[in-house]
Amino acid sequence: MALLTKLPSSISQFQNPQIPTFKPPSNSLHFTKASCSASPFTEKHSIERYQRDKWVFKNQLLDQTPSEENLPNFTTRDYEIAVQLPELKNLLQVLREKREEEGERGKVGPGNVFLVGTGPGDPELLTLKALKVIQNADLVLYDRLVSNDVMDLVGPQAKLLYVGKTAGYHSRTQEEIHELLLSFAEVGANVVRLKGGDPLVFGRGGEEMDFLQQKGIQVKVIPGITAASGIAAELGVPLTHRGVANSVRFLTGHSRKGGADPLFVAENAADPDSTLVVYMGLSTFPSLVLKLIHHGLPPDTPAAAVERGTTPQQRIVLAELKDLADKIASEQFISPTLIFIGKVVALSPLWPQSCSKETSQLIQMADTGL
Ligand code: SAH
Repeated sequence: MALLTKLPSSISQFQNPQIPTFKPPSNSLHFTKASCSASPFTEKHSIERYQRDKWVFKNQLLDQTPSEENLPNFTTRDYEIAVQLPELKNLLQVLREKREEEGERGKVGPGNVFLVGTGPGDPELLTLKALKVIQNADLVLYDRLVSNDVMDLVGPQAKLLYVGKTAGYHSRTQEEIHELLLSFAEVGANVVRLKGGDPLVFGRGGEEMDFLQQKGIQVKVIPGITAASGIAAELGVPLTHRGVANSVRFLTGHSRKGGADPLFVAENAADPDSTLVVYMGLSTFPSLVLKLIHHGLPPDTPAAAVERGTTPQQRIVLAELKDLADKIASEQFISPTLIFIGKVVALSPLWPQSCSKETSQLIQMADTGL
């Protein structure tokens, strides 16, 4: 089975009774600190969420007492994957048996994999199709940007599996996510892969689709409202207002290699008649601003940054381009934050009339009454 062959080799050591096992230092609540700060979307109901996805931890390893000298040199992540494995195998087995029964009645075929966009956070921004699919799922793989309010809509029979890459507990590599999707689809499950926003906008949805299609599994994509659209609506910014912006460009501030290479786009992107929306741009934003201004974008171009847009924790900063990076830093915005740059930002009812005097403004959800 694909899943079992690809997981880290250290797993076999956990399963070998000769080798001492341990509890990771914080096995029960890995998310309490690290993931709360890293993942504003998962903090609200972390405990309740954990109660639902702990089915993968039901394993005797958790009952064994750790011993300092026995602590092997494994990462917490290896450990977590190892203890999840038996429960994942059990679920696969149950699904396989169900499938064999159905096979006797003539109803077989691979399961469905749905790649579902959940929008930027507000559950009311889900599509009806997405809602239908998540209510009928057998297994839901979700990551950091999927809000708790959306997770609350998942059907009670579904097993949840967190596969986020940054929240600090039982996260998985992209390859392992591919293998999980494949293994469960092969046994006929309804597998739902939830992604924040739209799965095909900076979501690696294309890679998952490609992998599964090469293995003969059909993937159905259910689009979501991408952060740019959902949050522009919150701001009241018409991204392509006639006569003000004739195009809109979504760019990422992130680099695959971890550097600043996407900033080369600044030369083409410094167009005063276009709206720019920067995803994953917090860390590289100061250098992006310098480049955009260097390539001709006026320093007083209206701009906005929105943290946790469309959620009750939403915060907004409005400022001219030259001042926005400082403002973001002083307000200590964290991910996820989306940045808008362009004349259309000044069309927002939130844009201060005397922006040049005040230069910036922080707006919190409670202040605006939105
Ligand atoms: N597929 C997603 C984008 C994933 S990339 C989509 O279509 O929206 C992740 C980036 O999206 C974050 O770093 C942030 O820049 C942006 N983002 C997503 N949701 C957001 C939210 N609710 N508030 C602010 N930014 C968000």
